[in-house]
Amino acid sequence: MRGVVFRENRWIESADGAGARSCPECGGASASRHSWHLRRLQDLPIQGVPVVLELRLGRWRCLDDGCARKTFVERLTTAFPFARKTQRVTDLVRLFGHAAGGRTSEKLLARLAMPISDNAILRQLKRHASERRDGAPLRAIAIDDWSWRKGFNYGTIIVDLERRIVADVLETRSAKETADWVKRHPEIEVVSRDRCGLYAQGVRQGAPQARQVADRFHLLQNLRESIERHMTRISRFAGRPQLPPTTGDRHAARRGECGHARQALFDRVSSLRASGKTFVDIAAQIGVDHRTVAKWIKTGFPLHRRRLALKPTSPLYFQEFLSRRWAEGDRVGRRLFHDLRHRGYTGSFSNLERLLSTWRAGSREKKQSEQQYRKFIEIPAVDPATGWQISPGHCRFSLHEADAATHARRER
Ligand SMILES: [Zn+2]
Repeated sequence: MRGVVFRENRWIESADGAGARSCPECGGASASRHSWHLRRLQDLPIQGVPVVLELRLGRWRCLDDGCARKTFVERLTTAFPFARKTQRVTDLVRLFGHAAGGRTSEKLLARLAMPISDNAILRQLKRHASERRDGAPLRAIAIDDWSWRKGFNYGTIIVDLERRIVADVLETRSAKETADWVKRHPEIEVVSRDRCGLYAQGVRQGAPQARQVADRFHLLQNLRESIERHMTRISRFAGRPQLPPTTGDRHAARRGECGHARQALFDRVSSLRASGKTFVDIAAQIGVDHRTVAKWIKTGFPLHRRRLALKPTSPLYFQEFLSRRWAEGDRVGRRLFHDLRHRGYTGSFSNLERLLSTWRAGSREKKQSEQQYRKFIEIPAVDPATGWQISPGHCRFSLHEADAATHARRER
């Protein structure tokens, strides 16, 4: 150690290398120094302040005439050759990247005084993946999306299921890129994937030999959603409309179901009340809290459970106002945000934007289908190996394409 200085908001520790001088090529020791080499490494922070190691390392001449290497720099045990971080920082970066994705990790690591860009985090994940696999063939993989920036853009993560390690990380989530990637690995036999048709399509194009399966997580998710849907339909209780009001047909249908169930329940409450039952009696009979019964009787209409729970931090709290403005053609997010703030909205602009973007997507779709006179139908994603339906249908095809797809399936 030669000294520590505080410069440019970081601690800079200067030190000399340990003096190791054996050639990485031939292993022979050298006593002939060629020059010095200065290497900077980011290390773990001290009390919230970044730390940089400035190491002065010897560059040595290889004394073996037959060796391909003329000179070499002293190797470190704490960092890989050419790395700009110590191994312990690299390990942390990788753990963060895996757990939290690119942008989030960038923020967290900056707060922990280890500034690193999201691109560098991604590179780190990829490098680690290729080192771990060590050229072994990929037989069974899993593909899913990976949050590059949560809720905004997604990449793709590919996991080697046999070795339980990340095989690769792609920067986008697209059928084409997936197809290109699996095409480079003709040894793949099994692909586990989510229910969205996008990866199904990519794998179908790139690796038709591979068998596609749905993974346990997504099967359970399927099951849960089916149960929820079913319960809402038959339930005496008013179910929970899950989604913000989009113009998507599936969601609208589900909300309709919830509404009907709620109305039926309310009718029953009213008739019981008319026959002279107390709130507590009614509550016991239909399985709703007696305070809810009281509220319903008092207001005279079935209250929306979700609406009741909403707070002014949610744009949905102002849904009536928003949808009126929307219908009038006022669709500029900033302006709506401004007006909502005046009405007491305490949520963020991005929160509002998220709702508006689903509305925008909805009206775009509608316009498109009206303009082009193209009928869009939803067809479910199907496992090409078994012909079984896997997804509840996230992919949209034109009627023409859907016909062709159905035709192809029949022929198989
Ligand atoms: Zn050598």
